[in-house]
Amino acid sequence: MNEAQQPRAEPREIVELRRLKEEQPDLASAVDLQIELLQLQRRVQARVPLPSIRLDTAYLRELLATGPLLRFEHLKIDWSDIRFLARAAAAAMRTHEALEASDMRKVEIITRDADRLPILVRAWYEPADQNAPILPEAEGLGTVVLQAMRPILTRAADAILARVDLSGWSRGNCPVCGGEPDLAVITPAADRLLICSRCLARWRFDQIMCPFCRNAERSRITSFTSRDGRYRLSACDVCERYIKAYDARRASRPVMPAVDSVATLPLDAAAMQRGYK
Ligand SMILES: [Zn+2]
Ligand SMILES: [Zn+2]
Repeated sequence: MNEAQQPRAEPREIVELRRLKEEQPDLASAVDLQIELLQLQRRVQARVPLPSIRLDTAYLRELLATGPLLRFEHLKIDWSDIRFLARAAAAAMRTHEALEASDMRKVEIITRDADRLPILVRAWYEPADQNAPILPEAEGLGTVVLQAMRPILTRAADAILARVDLSGWSRGNCPVCGGEPDLAVITPAADRLLICSRCLARWRFDQIMCPFCRNAERSRITSFTSRDGRYRLSACDVCERYIKAYDARRASRPVMPAVDSVATLPLDAAAMQRGYK
């Protein structure tokens, strides 16, 4: 894109991503990919419909007592948008060597099939649903589906979060969509808010406890920080999974998952080197 084509004000996340690339040239390819993915999502964001879930506070509170709020049936999905996003995201990931050629072919085949695409997306959204049909070839496509579904899920989460009080939610998975967190933010008051890897909803969680297996024994949590002290990683020695956190107490900007997930790639590598996943 040349100068003349650039929108007058770039979204803050893209500005921060460009800065990250200058500061850490090793991350250039990951940054470029993230910018492409954000720009793709922006193309459909404005026309994403609200979910069909009733947005009244009392009803949502009642639902929340039994589990995450947003069921697959609540999502209003324009399949041509999903098809477009899945293909375009897969192509961008392939260009940046973030997707295998064989997975790229699977995306092309599945998105061409009006029956199989909804099966893929539903199985990704509700993996625990025993009644849902599955596609054996869906393995390895989670990141592509996530990119395609993100505009729908973040829009739904924003609408729901404006109406519901999450203070009673103490589970490790997302109160809105049931997804897992992969990033957290430590607030200036030293609370830890987990951030859903799918819909980006945030909810308060114990400062020490592992959100995946609820291990809360301090001696069985290994943590380390990035060189600049902005990010911290907590790895659980019981289930061997880990979660990263952005420490907003020592930061000049709020947490931005699209930026911080790329900035913490070196921490991911360090955790995986030590055998965590
Ligand atoms: Zn979620
Ligand atoms: Zn654990």
